[in-house]
Amino acid sequence: MQVWPVQRFSKAGRTAPRICGMAGVFSYESSEVDWCEDNYRHSETVAEFYNTVSSFIFFLFSPLMLYLLHPYAKERSRAVHLVWFMMIFVGIFSIYFHMTLSYVGQMLDEISILWVLAVGYALWFPRKHFPSFIKNRVEFSVLVFLTTVFSTLSSFAKPTVNAYALNCIALHILYCLGLELRSCTNPRIHRLARVSVFWWALAIACWLSDRFLCNFWKRINFCYLHSIWHVLIVVATAHGSTLIAYFDALHEIPHALPEIQYWPKDHWSLGVPFIAIRGSSKTQKEC
Ligand SMILES: [Zn+2]
Repeated sequence: MQVWPVQRFSKAGRTAPRICGMAGVFSYESSEVDWCEDNYRHSETVAEFYNTVSSFIFFLFSPLMLYLLHPYAKERSRAVHLVWFMMIFVGIFSIYFHMTLSYVGQMLDEISILWVLAVGYALWFPRKHFPSFIKNRVEFSVLVFLTTVFSTLSSFAKPTVNAYALNCIALHILYCLGLELRSCTNPRIHRLARVSVFWWALAIACWLSDRFLCNFWKRINFCYLHSIWHVLIVVATAHGSTLIAYFDALHEIPHALPEIQYWPKDHWSLGVPFIAIRGSSKTQKEC
């Protein structure tokens, strides 16, 4: 999984031959993106071993989040399951990309992340911030869908388009989340927001460090930061998306009395957050 196009580092000791011709875009190392981990060090068929293995974290968290968010999805819409269902595909494409470092792997990895963000956007973007020409969520979803199709197609012509789209969506989500938090007085929610930002900042720090301080990490023989990024960004997504879904639940299904709880034990400070549905009274909570 990766979020920003970067030029390949020249690597000493590369052993795999580059295959050219019709299937060039599928061939090993046809992508311009590469990471700090040495290629083919642990396997002849897996380019980046630890980056590939760590992508399996998607297969642990996705089913767990699908299970934990099911009561909320039942009240709100089964479509919310799409987010973590599609995260499974992000995992598959991340494995494929790091295994092969192929151009197709890179595109599939980036595009799958874009579509997860787009689905989250269509599902959870607050109604009150819809543009004036949009009447309901169906129309908004169509607009998001068309924009994402356009961005996906453009990314084949110009790969950086996708990265800009990803970052624009991510920044807009952060902005809207900030607005919601400002009018929220529940300390449990503020704690979840702080923990989400903590995981996210740690994840980004690992990603940047792997990218820009690779020589240093190579010197001390610790080239695993991109693998750690995979784990941290999945944990950050579990926290962040639950926070966003919580605000959505407050606005869309207030009668369900949504509440943030943690799995496996509610008092565990490092547990996985999810939305518990407590009732069907018409009481609106304070935030
Ligand atoms: Zn990755």
